Amino acid sequence: MKNVDVVIVGGGIVGLTTALAIRAQTSLTVAIIESQPLNTISAQPHIRVSAINAASQQLLTNLGVWPEITDSRLQAYQKMHVWDKAGFGHIDFTQQDLPSNANSKQDLGWIVENDVLRNALWQHAENDNGIVFIEQKLSSLSIGGAEVFLTIDGQMPVSAKLVIAADGANSWVRGQLDMPLSFRDYDHHALVATVQCAQGHQNTAWQVFLETGPLAFLPLYNQDQCSIVWSLPPEAAQRLKQLDNEQFNKEIIAASDGKLGQIQLVSERATFPLTMRLANDFVKQRVVLIGDAAHTIHPLAGQGVNLGLVDAAALAQTLAQSVQSELDLADPQALGHFSRWRKADASDMILAMESIKQGFALQQKLPKFIRGMGMSLVNNIPAVKQLLIKQAMGLNDNLPELAQAKDNLL
Ligand SMILES: Cc1cc2nc3c(=O)[nH]c(=O)nc-3n(C[C@H](O)[C@H](O)[C@H](O)COP(=O)(O)OP(=O)(O)OC[C@H]3O[C@@H](n4cnc5c(N)ncnc54)[C@H](O)[C@@H]3O)c2cc1C
Repeated sequence: MKNVDVVIVGGGIVGLTTALAIRAQTSLTVAIIESQPLNTISAQPHIRVSAINAASQQLLTNLGVWPEITDSRLQAYQKMHVWDKAGFGHIDFTQQDLPSNANSKQDLGWIVENDVLRNALWQHAENDNGIVFIEQKLSSLSIGGAEVFLTIDGQMPVSAKLVIAADGANSWVRGQLDMPLSFRDYDHHALVATVQCAQGHQNTAWQVFLETGPLAFLPLYNQDQCSIVWSLPPEAAQRLKQLDNEQFNKEIIAASDGKLGQIQLVSERATFPLTMRLANDFVKQRVVLIGDAAHTIHPLAGQGVNLGLVDAAALAQTLAQSVQSELDLADPQALGHFSRWRKADASDMILAMESIKQGFALQQKLPKFIRGMGMSLVNNIPAVKQLLIKQAMGLNDNLPELAQAKDNLL
């Protein structure tokens, strides 16, 4: 039997970051169980990308991971342009909208391919001799009084004091432990692809709200390419996926009001069903849920992985405090606090996504001039814009716990 302090099930972006964050603050030994090998980085940008906010960038910098990707396949953006297709309203966020204490040269966010980020995290974890990788699917888990026992096909069994489930939206661990979950279908599928834009992306993240849902253009490191996330009802997404390229190009140019000029599809298209999920409790005995295993949200504000990375920092901080106070790693009070904190943050984010989605759906029913007025009003009130931008960048320090986690890692 192999003994470690902590087992992390799932070596995705969140699981790997958690392993590095724990090791940055403690000498706990960590095993990562991951069934999917790393993808090789393709010459062309991969279609799955993430918008990384300032808080996540800071965390990844402090873990030493960020500098390894900055020069290669990363695109910063200094502007966000959001508009309503059916009205005349729009909101622009620029560096001038940042809080006065922020660095006026601060980028608003970064677009990075998921595979690029995951590879960089994996390489860092591999270089840490306190982290072991078990590249296999977890097949059983049983919780004892002081330990959790895990069996893995074809491998030596493992025991740990704590198991962290970072095994994604359909978490096997969560299901195995019957941890209750609230969920709701967003009635949207996200179509993702890479497109070439004649006018370039201008270091801007673009998003248009259409009657059927939002269409985002996320700037890629190739100055004339964007990754698109087009959220629409499932049948509409399937129709777009099956259109021939020429017809698809026509529809996306029309949908974007030609703001990025002529647009051409340059990749395959893939669709993902979108569901809101929120675990009732993020902790059960010696098991903690984080990342998509604990919560999934609509990608319209690009916050899913950012939320998961705060889970990673918060859990690492919780465990470091338990070690310092010589507490059991599964101390119910410490983990209970973690669970309430992170669930409150995830619930707020779910509500915010709901308000934006419903707000735009409702707007469609209003007369055109009133729709335009709403957005223009927001665009002209600096305090409201500052609040929105701080939220998007993960710089909202209202929670004292987050401020403390930032002191340690973020
Ligand atoms: C279309 C779309 C666009 C998005 N855009 C953004 C964005 O711009 N910004 C943002 O912040 N978020 C975005 N998100 C959300 C983001 O992609 C997810 O929140 C994030 O990838 C979740 O990471 P994770 O590590 O928690 O889970 P995952 O990436 O799902 O990783 C889970 C890992 O666990 C492994 N695993 C599962 N079961 C087992 C098992 N039994 N044994 C061993 N290993 C196992 C899997 O192989 C996988 O590697 C988007 C989501 C979608 C659908």
